[in-house]
Amino acid sequence: MQTPFGEIPVIDVHAHFFSHRFFATLAAELPEAPSEADIYPALQKRLPWEFPEADPVRLGKRWVAEMDRHGISRMVLIASVPGDEESVAAAAQAYPERIITYFMVNPTAEGAAGRVKRAFADLGVKGVTLFPAMHRFHVWDPRLHPIYETVAAHGGIVFVHCGHLKIGIRDTLGLPSRFEMRFANPVDLHGVAKAFPNLPFVIPHFGCGYFRELLLIADQCANIYTDTSSSNDWVRFMPYPLDLSALFVKTLQVLGPERILFGTDSSFFPRGWRKDVFDAQIGVLQTLQVPSPHVAQMLGGNMTRLLGR
Ligand SMILES: [Zn+2]
Repeated sequence: MQTPFGEIPVIDVHAHFFSHRFFATLAAELPEAPSEADIYPALQKRLPWEFPEADPVRLGKRWVAEMDRHGISRMVLIASVPGDEESVAAAAQAYPERIITYFMVNPTAEGAAGRVKRAFADLGVKGVTLFPAMHRFHVWDPRLHPIYETVAAHGGIVFVHCGHLKIGIRDTLGLPSRFEMRFANPVDLHGVAKAFPNLPFVIPHFGCGYFRELLLIADQCANIYTDTSSSNDWVRFMPYPLDLSALFVKTLQVLGPERILFGTDSSFFPRGWRKDVFDAQIGVLQTLQVPSPHVAQMLGGNMTRLLGR
């Protein structure tokens, strides 16, 4: 992509794949669960979104067109309900040069380790996505070790959503969210990151409220990364002034440009790829006069390196 820092191949490491199965899973939680044929009419009452066809390859094609429109090279698309890895894997199989696959797993569910094994060995996924506050587990729980071993053996990535957690679509649909923040502290990762030193752990959104904890733990564990995705409006909960510029300054200081991954947290259509998030970050990097090679690392170089392990 042509950027103010020159021509840079951009990889967005954080976007959600809202497949048909994703919506069907949410619809099944509605007080009056609609029949298969009524899923979208039921959701449409509350969500003015575009809903995907049943074939996930069509949604993959939509994202590839969106990447082409904005000049993006590749995107991580995350299967965002447990059990949906096949949808995003099918899209990635159709567009292997463009789509990188992560998938959500609930590690407390029966058969989770086997599911992860299969996803890496047979479906070609590159990352596993953990939501400790959502599924109520600590990332140091020994039950997760077989999962970490599998991801490490395949040169994959562990994405751990720490901090403040709000799933907008659940709120909009009036679905209850039994999240518990006591599981969401990045400090929980300390022993695990030490035990699996070659396994990259990505904490999104600069720690999403646990910025201090992200910095403390990343200083001690070289395999901890962060992504820059979303509007990062969690800064409004901080008891001191914090903005995107301050986040970048301190993260560049402690993690360095080689452990910061660019992301947007794009998710649904018709909004599509969040160019506003990209532009805001580029604006900050320009103001801070971050050298072009460092920007290139964050915008895609680091992810290319992680995927090439
Ligand atoms: Zn996200």
